[in-house]
Amino acid sequence: MRKVYYIYNPKTRTYDRIYPTFRQRVLDVLKRLFVGMGFGAGSFILLFWIFGTPSEKQLRIENSRLQAQYNVLSRRLDEALGVMQGIQQRDDNLYRVVLQADPVADAVRKAGYGGTNRYEELMDMANADLVINTTQKMDMLNRQLYIQSKSFDEVVDLFKDHDEMLRCIPAIQPVSNKNLKQTASGYGMRIDPIYKTAKFHSGMDFSANIGTPVYATGDGVVKKAGWQTGYGKLIIVNHGFGYETWYAHLNDMDVRVGQKVVRGEVIGEVGNTGKSTGPHLHYEVHVKGKVVNPVNYYFMDLSAEDYDKMIELAANHGKVFD
Ligand SMILES: [Zn+2]
Repeated sequence: MRKVYYIYNPKTRTYDRIYPTFRQRVLDVLKRLFVGMGFGAGSFILLFWIFGTPSEKQLRIENSRLQAQYNVLSRRLDEALGVMQGIQQRDDNLYRVVLQADPVADAVRKAGYGGTNRYEELMDMANADLVINTTQKMDMLNRQLYIQSKSFDEVVDLFKDHDEMLRCIPAIQPVSNKNLKQTASGYGMRIDPIYKTAKFHSGMDFSANIGTPVYATGDGVVKKAGWQTGYGKLIIVNHGFGYETWYAHLNDMDVRVGQKVVRGEVIGEVGNTGKSTGPHLHYEVHVKGKVVNPVNYYFMDLSAEDYDKMIELAANHGKVFD
């Protein structure tokens, strides 16, 4: 239907019909068209602004997935670095101690990363911290793996040259695990069982029944088999290479001074002699005249897993029998 236009005429107080030109009609149509289009486009933009375009939505989902993946990766790298630390500890505190080699210097283990501008190209990422952190961990692990494999090459060479030494140095538990009554108490500051004060415990206590066999922990020569104040019946085995092992509070001694013993040979029985609050073996390892933590000298008995258990056990602050 054709549109009809009126205009108010104040003089006659009536509405006069007007007849717009073609140009006016076209302009009018165009005006309406533009307003409609503007409104439509505005709503469209508003909707995208609130809900996002379909591809943006997809990207956002993907982004959050990637972020989650990065977090998982970062955690896994933490675990791997933890395992690495265990291996390093065993290398430094066990293999190298036994072979009388210096531990790998911390500076060497930790060298090669920490440069300030190393991760600069990652800085402008939205999740820069997470990405840089994870990359850093990966680099650390790489570096440490390389150093560790080099170190083990050296350890293997050292082992080849130390055949006799390896037979002599203490390397097993003096009491078999199957005979242990409870977890032993470790080396270090402990509460004295008699005086109830903090005191240095110079060995490891293996709680077992009286009469349980006690084994020489490495080849050597008996240096002492007799009574010593506090220690009760005590056997000292000299292993050479600066090593001695002490077996205290024995019930019975099966060896005499000067006798050669081999690793695993029974030398006496667990007892309760001297300053002792219950049947147990007090075992000490001395290196070059100094008492050391025996925990590093059971390595022939122990798998890697057992070693971790032994470390835990040695840290045990439970009952000391002295
Ligand atoms: Zn003890």
